[in-house]
Amino acid sequence: MSDITRTKCLIIGSGPAGYTAAIYAARANMSPVLYTGKSPGGQLMITTDVENFPGYPDGVMGPQMMEDLRKQAERFGTDIRYSLISKVEFSEDLHKAYADNGDEIHADSIIISTGADAKWLGLESEKRLANKGVSACAVCDGFFYRGQEVAIVGAGDSAAEEASYLAKLCPKVHMIVRRDTMRASKIMQERVINNPNIIIHWNTETEEVLGEEEVEGVRLKNNKTGETSEIAVKGFFVAIGHKPNTDIFKGMLDMDEASYLVTQPDSTKTNVPGVFASGDAQDRIYRQAITAAGTGCMAALDAEKYLEAKGAH
Ligand code: NDP
Repeated sequence: MSDITRTKCLIIGSGPAGYTAAIYAARANMSPVLYTGKSPGGQLMITTDVENFPGYPDGVMGPQMMEDLRKQAERFGTDIRYSLISKVEFSEDLHKAYADNGDEIHADSIIISTGADAKWLGLESEKRLANKGVSACAVCDGFFYRGQEVAIVGAGDSAAEEASYLAKLCPKVHMIVRRDTMRASKIMQERVINNPNIIIHWNTETEEVLGEEEVEGVRLKNNKTGETSEIAVKGFFVAIGHKPNTDIFKGMLDMDEASYLVTQPDSTKTNVPGVFASGDAQDRIYRQAITAAGTGCMAALDAEKYLEAKGAH
């Protein structure tokens, strides 16, 4: 027999959006139940210094910030459960959700804050050598390649940030950029361009990650000249963006073409009454910890209003 939990507010996800929603919902006496998902703390757990979250004048480490948020949510009585919600059923009255640990949850309202996951290039060699030198998290795995040569693919803020991080550990970081320009913000671009440990390969694509048992190198192709070349590296990092974790809502909630949840203007309401979306799962534009926290707050306030109107709070 599975356990059935009845709650006014189920929160799915434990990044800045989920924990902020929990803080607001708990303080509004909604007794929220929060399921962390498979990566408690979300993407900030794989970040080092967060320097742009207001209130931390000296910066804060991502994992530390998430621990602080978790403690703050717990302090007001959030029931935090370390499992993944893998199925939902929405209905007019009571929504149902099912967790991997066998829990069944019946909720008057649901706040979705499932975040996003790293994207991969899709090469066979990348898959085969995953965790054997191929990584989507420089901050988690960079340490293993201290003093060695590494490569990183991507040209957004993530790639620039991770390249700078790797350059503190590694004497040579090859940054593989597929165009002749970078998408990263000016300040981040300047940091990588001016870093003597970072070599930028413009107009370059990865043909293959080389190595049998572990990464030994990368074969690159210049997409202007067609020329191929090989570089010897021990670590191969991919930082090419993210995919929202919204698969379990397909066919139930409105999404855009990239699978981000669609919310109504100036609100966190989805197309299903009582279901609200916050954080990176619904934000393809800003995707910052502070904006995720902001929409988490909005979702809790929207959920509270919804429960009041329904007479459930
Ligand atoms: P982005 O979507 O901004 O950038 C993805 C990068 O990967 C682009 O340069 C893109 O190239 C490249 N790319 C995509 N697919 C491939 C591929 N198949 N092969 C090679 N390159 C590829 O993702 P980010 O994760 O960098 O950033 C996401 C959001 O988070 C952004 O809004 C960013 O500003 C923000 N962010 C902010 C930070 C901060 O403020 N400290 C830190 C990190 C992220 P192309 O440009 O050619 O499309």
